[in-house]
Amino acid sequence: MSLIFQKSQPGRKGVSLPKCDVPDMPVIPEKYRRGSDAKLCELSELDVVRHFTGLSRKNFGVDTGFYPLGSCTMKYNPKILEKIAQMKGFAELHPFLPQLRYGGMLTQGALVVLYELERLLCEIAGMNAFTLQPLAGAHGELTGMMLIAAYHRDRGSKKDEVLVPDESHGTNPSSAAIAGFKTRSVPTDHKDGMLDVMALEAMITNRTAAIMLTNPNTLGIFNSKIEQVVKIAHSRDALVYYDGANLNAVLGKFRPGDAGIDVMHINLHKTFATPHGGGGPGAGPVGVQKHLVDYLPISRVVKRKDNTYTLDYDYPKSIGYIAPFYGNFSVCLKAYAYILLLGAEGLIEVSENAVLNANYVLNALKGVYDVPFNKTCMHECVLSAQKQNQYGVHALDIAKALIDEGFHPPTIYFPLIVKEAMMIEPTESESRETLDAFIAAMKRIAENAEKSPEKVCSAPVSTPVSRPDEVKAAKDMDFNFRG
Ligand SMILES: *Cc1c(COP(=O)(O)O)cnc(C)c1O
Repeated sequence: MSLIFQKSQPGRKGVSLPKCDVPDMPVIPEKYRRGSDAKLCELSELDVVRHFTGLSRKNFGVDTGFYPLGSCTMKYNPKILEKIAQMKGFAELHPFLPQLRYGGMLTQGALVVLYELERLLCEIAGMNAFTLQPLAGAHGELTGMMLIAAYHRDRGSKKDEVLVPDESHGTNPSSAAIAGFKTRSVPTDHKDGMLDVMALEAMITNRTAAIMLTNPNTLGIFNSKIEQVVKIAHSRDALVYYDGANLNAVLGKFRPGDAGIDVMHINLHKTFATPHGGGGPGAGPVGVQKHLVDYLPISRVVKRKDNTYTLDYDYPKSIGYIAPFYGNFSVCLKAYAYILLLGAEGLIEVSENAVLNANYVLNALKGVYDVPFNKTCMHECVLSAQKQNQYGVHALDIAKALIDEGFHPPTIYFPLIVKEAMMIEPTESESRETLDAFIAAMKRIAENAEKSPEKVCSAPVSTPVSRPDEVKAAKDMDFNFRG
């Protein structure tokens, strides 16, 4: 496979336009004009079509194979949702359509979707109100941290630090820092894979604005001490932020609001359709309890007395705008349709199957690979390649060998607190046959690691590029191609 520039032939054309019948009027001043032609590639239409079709067939996605990328939830999502998102009445709705003229009737359908999705998320998460504005999980975290800052500021408090367990998602401390907080890391209790409550109690001070915790955490473990954490935080007037990016593990089983959580976010693009990965679009709605509602970003969808809907901007204590218009509407729409499609029972089944599948993989590979925390996992499991290290094989090599087996590699070297981590998330939508095939591949690779480690270390051999220099792959596209 060569680059499109390597296929270029001087003078070859993809289009032929008729000669212009009006005089050529140079509008760009001479000093700004090119001295020579731009070095664009010169190809026929067919060359271009074949090039990009060829590239697209080298893509790996949930539509082509098993994609157990831990923490990223690359699950299959019903195609009907894409159809719904493409419906003209939604897809072609202009964000500047009048809110008041014509009684706002032109936008009522979209506003109902947003309003009802907010209510559904409140019910699912046990929160008082939601904003759908944040455009990603990390954006939700930042929004949540800004809400917490506004809350404390309003009370004249000088709280300036946020405590973040080291088993939290990496975006957590950065979101808190961007919102202006100092962060301190709370260690994990290595006996149970949850944050060390004793350490938390010793660390919390009156300057602590919030504890920010990911649950299930990045070890795939549900933090059953959450109510204790909330109690400790609230006794110091600190709030608790819950990173619920992976709510697909606990749907219908646990509601953060019931445990006293003050602020949280959900990744719609992990739990409610829309696969994560690929750089978006996503949506990270933020839910709050009553004491934080006043600070939510604008605009907010409200239901009028006559049962029509409108966007309201009149919230003097609001943190203001965090996104243009109203978030990623099509992602919200797909989440809304997904929730209605599955219903309450279906959503519970999502979580049960996600957890069952992850534990099935974990138990099948126990002994073959090291298991750092030997307990029931949630929607994803964490293995370690430490056992394979003695043969010179690392998590990276196992990930590469999986590509030759026809699978997308899992997340590796994350979470940071596990050496040689491999984080596997099978999701609820995979069949037993697929999981068995993946398990068999992982066992073959472990066997090869022992018998012929050089084979594992030279994988993949089935791809056009084997192991690109990861920096060069992004910055210098002209690296060497094999075959
Ligand atoms: C994916 C994830 C995030 C970040 O979500 P983005 O949409 O990628 O910004 C945050 N926390 C956890 C636990 C996650 O799994």
